[in-house]
Amino acid sequence: MARARQLDADDPLAAYRGHFIGAESSLSYLDGNSLGRPLKRTRDDISRFIEESWGGRLIRGWDEEWLDLPQAIGDQLGRAVLGAAAGQVTIADSTTVVLYKLIRAALAASTGPGRNEIVLDTENFPTDRYLVEGIAKEQGLTLRWITPDAAAGVTLEEVRAVTGPATAVVVLSHVAYRSGHLADLRGITEAVHDAGALVVWDLCHSAGSVEIGLDASQVDFAAGCTYKYLNGGPGSPAFAYVNARHLPGLAQPIWGWMGRKDAFEMAAGYEAAPGIRGFLSGTPTVLAMIPMRGMVDLIEEAGIESVRRKSSLLTAFAVELYDSWLAPRGAQLSTPRDPDQRGSHITVDHPAFREMTSVLWERDIIPDFRAPHGLRIGLSPLSTSFSELYDGMAAIRQLVDG
Ligand SMILES: *Cc1c(COP(=O)(O)O)cnc(C)c1O
Repeated sequence: MARARQLDADDPLAAYRGHFIGAESSLSYLDGNSLGRPLKRTRDDISRFIEESWGGRLIRGWDEEWLDLPQAIGDQLGRAVLGAAAGQVTIADSTTVVLYKLIRAALAASTGPGRNEIVLDTENFPTDRYLVEGIAKEQGLTLRWITPDAAAGVTLEEVRAVTGPATAVVVLSHVAYRSGHLADLRGITEAVHDAGALVVWDLCHSAGSVEIGLDASQVDFAAGCTYKYLNGGPGSPAFAYVNARHLPGLAQPIWGWMGRKDAFEMAAGYEAAPGIRGFLSGTPTVLAMIPMRGMVDLIEEAGIESVRRKSSLLTAFAVELYDSWLAPRGAQLSTPRDPDQRGSHITVDHPAFREMTSVLWERDIIPDFRAPHGLRIGLSPLSTSFSELYDGMAAIRQLVDG
């Protein structure tokens, strides 16, 4: 415990924890990678929105602010979190729907004679796999599966081995949802381009926890959640990134009025709005976008490099506690040991974990469980303290002893 206290004392970002609801309680929250804690200011942001914007401005709010909100938040997210210049990011739909639209847009931009394969991997999040299966069926394309090491993730070599003149699109996660493996975004993007194909990155588990650099890596398309490390609240809408070079002529498949040029002309026929706006389909979920702004502000203030530094220290401390407490009790680490190769969570496997998870939750120790017997320990850098992690790991050790 002395070591956890020292790590907290040395943590330059320690004070940020006070911005979150629940920070004072003794609960150990180890699942910020699944649903981030709310910020205290979210209470005020939402009630002010209801009183002043919705209640005060009523329908005028659309013209005055709301219609531009997806792009305004998107630009800030691009700057503070994604490494994306303005005009390439918007907020819309759910990650699942955004990914569908982006994968279809990527295919429209890259399929050609002989290019009829989509590359994906067996360790990707279920929604990504199902979507790609459905799209392949719908479009008559062939799936090319990578089967990575489940305790690590997709490597550059594996991508090189399956991409070539037949590849249209590659769909991968930047941070693997189970193992926490951090993929080589830049190297893999380059390899996909060398093969003449396009890449769609899923950033759900990396946005807000690691540096991304979408523009610097020339990424084509990307999507991610805002309710994980971006603390937007349950079911908050997703973000979409389309590299500026793909925006002219962007062909996304869900033609709605909000993505049309001059939407309020209500004219005949669909003609996409220029720029990232053409990615939209229906009315923006304005109310659900309010909470995420506070977190993007906070990350921008702290700096994503510092957030990443703390994340690495947190996962390193988790691995250290695993080594001394859980490895001797028969558990296995299913996450890369090198901090440069992992995101902000670790997964530990043990046959007792399935039964144990509900007991832990009753005791206010909250990791999450991933079949067949993995406990995911997610460490949201700005809200998690080293002492909180220590307490959670100590409770897990105690329960494994029975
Ligand atoms: C959480 C997560 C999703 C969730 O998609 P939704 O449409 O928001 O349910 C998708 N992909 C990955 C990698 C995730 O971690």
